[in-house]
Formats: sequence, C-alpha cells, structure tokens
Amino acid sequence: MLLLYHFIKKFVRIKGMEITEAKKLIINTGKKLGEKNMSPATSGNISIRVDNNILITGSGTCLYELTEEDIVLMDTEGNVIEGNKKPSSEKHLHAKIYQMRNDLNAIVHCHSPYASTFAVCHKPLSRPIISENVFYFGEIPLADYAMPSSDKLVENTAKFFDVHDAVLMANHGIIVGGKDLKDAYYKTETAEVYAQIYLQSLMLGSPVDLSRQEIEEIYELRRAAGK
Ligand code: 13P
Ligand code: ZN
Repeated sequence: MLLLYHFIKKFVRIKGMEITEAKKLIINTGKKLGEKNMSPATSGNISIRVDNNILITGSGTCLYELTEEDIVLMDTEGNVIEGNKKPSSEKHLHAKIYQMRNDLNAIVHCHSPYASTFAVCHKPLSRPIISENVFYFGEIPLADYAMPSSDKLVENTAKFFDVHDAVLMANHGIIVGGKDLKDAYYKTETAEVYAQIYLQSLMLGSPVDLSRQEIEEIYELRRAAGK
C-alpha cells in the first residue's frame, strides 16, 4: 500500500514537472513570436500534446506576455482539466490535427504579416524558389476561408495536414505543426521568411523557380531525413 502511495506520488510529481516545463516552453515561444512581430496583440495560439491531453493557450491571451495562468490543460474534446482560463477558440482545430498526426506534438497558429499577406490574397506558398522551404514544406497550401474557431474552419484546414506540416488559412493566418514546440516554432519562422522573400522577389522582378531536377534532389534529401 505504502509502495503504491509512493508510486502515485512520484507519478503525479513527474506529470506536474512535465506540465510546468511545457508551460515554460509555450511562454518562451509566445515571447519569440511577439518579439518578431509574428503574433500581434491577442492573435494566435500555441499548444503542446501532453500524453492524451493538450496544453493550450487561453482564449484572448497575448502570446508575447503569457504567464503560466494563461495556459490550460484540456482533453481532446476541449474540456478544461486544469486551469482557470477558457482554452483557445481554435482548440478543436489543434485537437483534430493531433488526432490525425501522431508525429506532431506541438502547434503554432499565428497571424504573422507576410504569411497572412499570401493568405488574404488566396495565394499558396507553392513556388519552389528557396531550397530550404522545398526541403521543409514541399509547398504550403491554402485552406478555404471559414469563420475563425468554426467547425468549418477545422474541416477546411485540418485535411491538409494529411501530408503537410504548415497550412495558410484564407483571410486569416497560418498554422504549423512540429515534432516538438521548437520544431513548430522554427517552421513558423521559416514559413514567414519564405513569404517575405517571395513577396520581395515579386516586387524586385521575377523570382526564378528551381528546376524539376533540383527539386527532385531536395526531395531525395527529404526522404533520406525521414520527412
Ligand atoms: P484565441 O485567443 O481564442 O486563441 O484566438 C486567437 C486566434 O488567432 C483565433 O483564430
Ligand atoms: Zn487566428
């Protein structure tokens, strides 16, 4: 009995530590997004998968200024398990992506200005003009518009995660999944710079696409890296 008590106590303590660590990661990521102007005001949300549950930012929180109280633990239906805030209004979209992809454990959604510029013009980030982006994304498709936080938005957006890790959301922003939060954040930043360079290249002249063979070589590298 005593042994069982110590086991439960240890387990609860480890879980508690995991959640505290995960909250710190979310807070640091929110700060970076804010510093880089990728998440203006209270836009965007961040989550991490914790076992069968999801740690997610509260609705209406400013990602740049997050505190531990702004982050809640919810189940996959969006019911709060721990915390006093309402989970992000995009909770069902996060949950659906985790349900579809076992390899994704963190998600960043933001209204970063360059990616969102493409999203409002209904232009996917699909031209193979930067080798790094071909490697990481192949392309970044565009999901049809639906009202933020709606079931339709989940339907329109989540389906692209069958093969993609980043999706533009028409007239809204971008959503990105990663194997962990660092990966999701780096991909978000990479996508944003991709959009920035793409836009600038259109202003300067005509961006030059990589050739079919050059793209194939990058895909070969991608496959070798298990992506
Ligand atoms: P939340 O503050 O509810 O997460 O909403 C922000 C957002 O970006 C909605 O799409
Ligand atoms: Zn949004």
